[in-house]
Parts: sequence; C-alpha cells; structure tokens
Amino acid sequence: MELVTVGTGTVAPSATRTSACHWVSRGRLKILLDCGPGALHRLAQFGLPWPEVTHVVLSHFHPDHWAELPMLVYALKYTTVPPRQEPLVILGPPGVVRLVKTLAEGYGEWLLDPGFPIGILDVRDREPFPLDGDMSLETCRVPHTPESVAIGLTGPEGRLVYTGDTGPSPDLARWAAGCDLLLAECSLPEAMAIESHLTPLRAGELARGAGAKQLVLTHFYPPVETSDPAREAGTRFQGPVTAAKDGDRFRIGGR
Ligand SMILES: [Zn+2]
Ligand SMILES: [Zn+2]
Repeated sequence: MELVTVGTGTVAPSATRTSACHWVSRGRLKILLDCGPGALHRLAQFGLPWPEVTHVVLSHFHPDHWAELPMLVYALKYTTVPPRQEPLVILGPPGVVRLVKTLAEGYGEWLLDPGFPIGILDVRDREPFPLDGDMSLETCRVPHTPESVAIGLTGPEGRLVYTGDTGPSPDLARWAAGCDLLLAECSLPEAMAIESHLTPLRAGELARGAGAKQLVLTHFYPPVETSDPAREAGTRFQGPVTAAKDGDRFRIGGR
C-alpha cells in the first residue's frame, strides 16, 4: 500500500500546500482520501495516474476537503483517452449522496451521469466496507462537524488511519489502535488550540494513545508552520514522525 500526501494544506491559500487530498494505491485500487481544491493539478504534477482513480472517500463536508470532486469527474469525462468506462465510487459519511446530488443541481446532470458509472454511497459508522477482495474501509465519527469521520484502510500488509479533521478524541485513539500509519491533521499551534482541531502535541498524544507505528502530519494552517510540528509531536510519541509536504510518499508493508 502506498500513500502520497497530495495536498497537506487547508482552505488557507498557500504557495506550497494544496487543500486536503491524499492518494492511496494498492494493486488496481487508486483511492483519494478527500479531494480538496487544487488536487487534480497536483496529481498531475506528482506523476500519479489520476485517470485510474477507483474511489474518492470524503471525511466531511467542508469544501477544502471535497471541492475538487466535480472537477475530477469533469476531467475524467473529457480528458481520458480512450474514454473512461470504469465506474467511479464516491464514499463518505451519511449525507454524501445528498451532497453530490445537490451539487449536480448546480453543475449539471453530467456530475451523476458523466458517461461512465458513478456510484455514491453513505458509509455507516464502524461497519467495514469491502473495496476489493483484500482491502476494506471503515469510518469512525470524530469531533469536528456532525458528519465528520476518520477513515481506516486495512489490507493484508497493514492498516492506514486518516483522521480527517478532528479534535482530540479518546474514542478515535481506541479505534485507531495498533495502526501502521496514522495520518493525522495538525491544524494549529498549541497557543491557538481549539476543540475541533489538533495541534502537534495533540496529534502526538493521539499517536501514542493509539500505539501507532508511524505518525504522518498533514492539514497545516500557516500559524502552525512557525513551529516545528514534527519535533513537537515527537515529544509525545516515540515512533517516527514526519511533517508531510505535498508530494511526499510513504509505504505500508511490502506492496
Ligand atoms: Zn479542513
Ligand atoms: Zn473541516
């Protein structure tokens, strides 16, 4: 399983960090965890085979996490050669079906019927959802917005947990227990800590509480960049910590 941190930023305009988007590939599965603005051009920049994307999984409905989704469907409709036949599956917490159908009222019917099959499914909390014979997805509610979830991807070689946007949560730490890679949001410096986001220290505490093998930090607002987030998180978590940049690559297990 490979992870590429395509967009490690937020809604805050940044020359170096695009809004939330993370690419996970394993065999034929090509999954986007969130699809924030700017993602498509970053996918191209990093040489990722975005026309082969199989699933888009949304963590919640803030537009810095989904607003590139219509552009992705539009690009798959008009720029893939030969024209795409394979289905695209869009998953998210309950409400994602309604979100995409509502978007289609503004964008046009092509968003639901772009010339290849589109499947949209509300995923129920803590019910494993098979992606193929080997890999499954599971979500866990987190304290951010009412619909917000963390996303877990489990395959034979290990488990990746992406927090999405979240505040501190003992529940999330228990659910993420023993994960091989924890991809955690790291929005704000400690001096600006709020209940609906993590700081470097709180991301480190989450990784320690979960017993994660590795911590990768993402979703940086500009003020947190004035500190050294990886070093701060490392004061609470003994394992390897990386403050990801757009385009960084990580491997889980051998494939
Ligand atoms: Zn966000
Ligand atoms: Zn958010």
